[in-house]
Amino acid sequence: MSLDTFIEEYHRVFSRSSRTEYVPTVIKEAYNSVVIDVYGRRYIDFSSSASVVNTGYNNPKILDVVEKQLRKLIHYTHIYGFNEPALKLARKLISITGVVNGKVILGLSGSDANEGALFLSKAYNRRTYLLSYVNSFHGCTLMAAKASGIDLSRRVVRLLGEEGKTIFLPYPDCYRCPFGYTRGGCRLRCIEIVEEKIDELNGDVYGLIIEPIQGDGGIIPAPEEYISELQRILNKWSIPLIVDEVQTGVGRTGRWLAIQHYGVNPDIVTLGKALGGGLPISAIIGRSNIMESLPDFSYSFTLSGNPVASAVALAVIEYIEENNLVERARILGEHVVNELKGLMKEHELIGDVRGKGLMIGVDLVKNRETRERAVAEAKKVVWRSFELGLIVFSVSGNILRIQPPLTIEEEILDEGVRILEKAIDDVEKGRV
Ligand code: PLP
Repeated sequence: MSLDTFIEEYHRVFSRSSRTEYVPTVIKEAYNSVVIDVYGRRYIDFSSSASVVNTGYNNPKILDVVEKQLRKLIHYTHIYGFNEPALKLARKLISITGVVNGKVILGLSGSDANEGALFLSKAYNRRTYLLSYVNSFHGCTLMAAKASGIDLSRRVVRLLGEEGKTIFLPYPDCYRCPFGYTRGGCRLRCIEIVEEKIDELNGDVYGLIIEPIQGDGGIIPAPEEYISELQRILNKWSIPLIVDEVQTGVGRTGRWLAIQHYGVNPDIVTLGKALGGGLPISAIIGRSNIMESLPDFSYSFTLSGNPVASAVALAVIEYIEENNLVERARILGEHVVNELKGLMKEHELIGDVRGKGLMIGVDLVKNRETRERAVAEAKKVVWRSFELGLIVFSVSGNILRIQPPLTIEEEILDEGVRILEKAIDDVEKGRV
């Protein structure tokens, strides 16, 4: 079957609301940081397939665990009974996230983890409003979509007639400050706004949900002081801090959780994506008083706590521990940021390089002064990279996201950076 016919057939059977066409080929197999298509072409994957394969594609140690667990027990629903991998995983999650007095709910996707976190928070204090952020993304289920600030989610929520009761705060973006300040030269107006908003609502807020590094909004790390101030304000009003670590969690940013860079203890943490190393599993970890606020048996899916998915998640965490991948993410991340910042001397298209660990954003601009987004150019860079053997995605139109597996071989990482430079150069010189 030709590629065109294959893609046509895809469109015939899959709903367009369930997919995009970011990688325009058919992937057949993958090893660690490299994927191979049906034509035998090799691509370095700087996306980790949407920040999922932190421990690499088809990691043999993790495959071993899957095979063994599949043969022992493929499923025994933990909502009716008990299974060993689910218990071991929950204990491990409480320990790595450090949530005080923590309890766990297991799920299947980042969306359902955030959905549950919002249910719990609302049921806990029965207040009215949720605080979230402009350009945030928390998932596709109803509460998660209502909490999401990106345009697409806003459009869907409007279409469903479900708007209201979420207040979108400006995200503390120091490169494109919503208040027009420059990095280091501000009074943290972005945090004053939070306090003012909560005062205005007289504290009638059931939770605040935040990505400590905004992912789909443009790989934007919140500044250090912001998060600690945020916790102080929320504590004053007893508003739960819900930290969405679906994209940032499981070691990606050089800590188990991105929030750990800020020395803050969240009330609820959500994990997904990388937790299952490619299999569907998510988790809500929160303070027990909040986690017990819904009736028995009211937020459980038949397949949650599945023993295979739980065993794999546990194996992912143990693999990261045994191979010091959290530290490796930090070191490799610093290396890549330095390399990319080095490229700024020669390439005017790069306006900013930012991130933590192996969650890095390269902000392409038409003009460094105005910081106008170079959207068309970013599209070309993504396309040219693909032609040259590198999968890299863009977010917010102009920001390249660099999120390779934490296990990526150093020489392959450098090869990927060289391809990216060549793609940027080709676009700047009008060769594509
Ligand atoms: N939260 C964040 C920060 C995400 O980046 C995503 C997915 O991109 C989600 C939640 C939703 O996760 P899922 O696609 O697994 O439902």
